[in-house]
Amino acid sequence: MTVTDPRHIVAAKRDGHALAAEEIETFVDGYTRGEIGDGPAAAFLMACLLRGMDGAETLALTRALVASGDTVRLEGFDRPTVDKHSTGGVADGVTLVFAPLAASLGMAVAKLSGRGLGHTGGTLDKLESIPGLRTDLTPDEMKRQVRSIGCAVAAQSSRLVPADGKLYALRDATATVPSIPLIAASVMSKKLAVDTDLILLDVKAGAGAFMKTVGDAEALAEACLELARGWGREARVAVSDMEQPLGDAVGNALDVAEAIDVLGGSHRGRLRDLAVAFAARGLGVTSGRDAETARTEAERAIDDGSALDRFRAMIEAQGGDPHVVDDPGGVLPSAPVVLPIESERTGTIHGMATHEIGLASGALGAGRVRKGDPVDPAVGIVVRCKIGDVLERGGPVGEVHARDHDAARVAVRSVLDALVIGEDPVTPPPLVHVWLE
Ligand code: URA
Repeated sequence: MTVTDPRHIVAAKRDGHALAAEEIETFVDGYTRGEIGDGPAAAFLMACLLRGMDGAETLALTRALVASGDTVRLEGFDRPTVDKHSTGGVADGVTLVFAPLAASLGMAVAKLSGRGLGHTGGTLDKLESIPGLRTDLTPDEMKRQVRSIGCAVAAQSSRLVPADGKLYALRDATATVPSIPLIAASVMSKKLAVDTDLILLDVKAGAGAFMKTVGDAEALAEACLELARGWGREARVAVSDMEQPLGDAVGNALDVAEAIDVLGGSHRGRLRDLAVAFAARGLGVTSGRDAETARTEAERAIDDGSALDRFRAMIEAQGGDPHVVDDPGGVLPSAPVVLPIESERTGTIHGMATHEIGLASGALGAGRVRKGDPVDPAVGIVVRCKIGDVLERGGPVGEVHARDHDAARVAVRSVLDALVIGEDPVTPPPLVHVWLE
């Protein structure tokens, strides 16, 4: 349908009316094809943000986004296909651990990632810090790899949900990102365009996430689940903590090294626990195992080396140097300056300005400000403590990996300023607030 005057649709939303599915589809289609300009589209987005969208409108928006491009059919697999996605946080390297872990448990993980904007690189940037590794797999290459190894992590084609790419850039430029229906439609359109048996979603809540409160994160989780239901798709959603970096590493190669330590069993903590929780949930849903058995099997797959073997196989299949698994420090790029971060006070960590830690890593070069900017694979920040830990004055907090001393000193200052240190003991926030289904 050709849009003659998009102002009627913008005005209806501005005045608080629910839009008909056809109006939303027409608008999104017109914008994607260039018949509607950025001006009316920005006004439309702002009206949606301020007035909200009901379930039917959000579903219509999601349908319009999916209809703007190709869909991916994952047929002919002899195991259940599972997708996992996080709404984004700091030191959130779960996918690097989850994909091979789930594959070692008998699931097929064909993970398509967007590059996105962020203070640190996304999963693709992290993986590409492994010399030789390709993420530009063709759909056939990806399916072949998933059939033989059980997992692949590849760049999502520009033909998958192109309307979301265009609208997301406009939202980023017009302060219209933080709207629950707009985020739900954006996130779920990319999941629903790939026909997996199960969608696992990690909605982050806290200082380092889009959703600052557990309540808002739960509302987003519910909105995403409702879309999955409307589509007839199986989904499970966790609302998980982002009041502090999930893992220790906030960068790219540093995250790969940490993921290898987690997969190798030598590194315990919240990153491992969350990856295990997702793998166990996936195993439980797809195989009928009870929760305890599924968790035990997921833990065992790390402890007996089978998850790490899958990671090695995945890297090799994607052209990367598999020796990275045995010698991360020798294979991954490293920064010329490594400066320790030492605590200026004795006390207990009560909180962390998590977003600021992400920004500090971005300022070192680990993230990108504009689409298409390169990221520096070697730089970043490692924070080895968590909320509730006791620090001694002069004791270790972590380290900064930088291109030069000046940049390193700025980042050390930012991390120290991000720590909220008090006298009394505190209870750390739970890793997972709630699972919804
Ligand atoms: N991630 C997305 O893909 N879309 C959003 O709107 C927010 C986070």
